[in-house]
Amino acid sequence: MSGLLPGDPAAGIGGEATPRALCVLAPNPSPMTLDGTNTWLLSEPGSDLAVVIDPGPLHEGHLRRVIETAEQQGKRVALTLLTHGHADHSEGAARFAELTGSEVRALDPAHRLGSEGLTDGQRLDVGGLDLRVIGTPGHTSDSLTFHLPADGAILTGDTVLGRGTTMVAHPDGRLGDYLDSLRHLHGMAAEHGVRTVLPGHGPVLADALGAVDYYLAHRAGRLAQVETAVEAGCRTAAEVVARVYADVDRALWPAAELSVLAQLQYLRDHGLIPD
Ligand SMILES: [Zn+2]
Repeated sequence: MSGLLPGDPAAGIGGEATPRALCVLAPNPSPMTLDGTNTWLLSEPGSDLAVVIDPGPLHEGHLRRVIETAEQQGKRVALTLLTHGHADHSEGAARFAELTGSEVRALDPAHRLGSEGLTDGQRLDVGGLDLRVIGTPGHTSDSLTFHLPADGAILTGDTVLGRGTTMVAHPDGRLGDYLDSLRHLHGMAAEHGVRTVLPGHGPVLADALGAVDYYLAHRAGRLAQVETAVEAGCRTAAEVVARVYADVDRALWPAAELSVLAQLQYLRDHGLIPD
């Protein structure tokens, strides 16, 4: 496979993805954010309450469009959640909370607005919508995945993207944590009926198990390449990037360098390369 994810290439970005989840695409495309940030609007059929996951960047038009989309369906935003604190997901949250009067809940207290946070294993019920909180650190230390059991779906933020692969944001993100998180999601797809990935960027993936398998294989492959590069004499992260990520868009090299630093840390921690 040459960097193509398994999944449904026809699945679009924006609009209804599952019976309970609808995507409003933010207008912030870039090499890092792909088509832009996916803001997710979730609601139980028949309920007049909605949950928004990742309001996205501070873009007034986008935030208002999310609210209008909810209103067109006869729903009011009752709660805002963040998958993690990166600005392309969280920057608009304070303004969105102002516009909707909803609380913002996140793992990292610095990104909360209101009295309540989120913790791994927590269950949320908003107008009958059953949502489970899963700690999936690695991309960042505060990364969460939200499980929507009724639709067999997971909202993965930047932990699993709809296209390509993600970065481990060293030093906050750690590769060992990330691999554990991927294995956890693998178990959910293999044993707990999770089929659909609703990612933070890129299209919906219809084969969650295939996507997570691809991510695990990709990370193992990159790690082996980094180890080989060090053995071949690469001394700095930039040297490793130039060798291992030669096939990757140079706009992504700064992110790749953080991922390489995370991989070097992992290899040292496991005694696979010298300190
Ligand atoms: Zn991120």
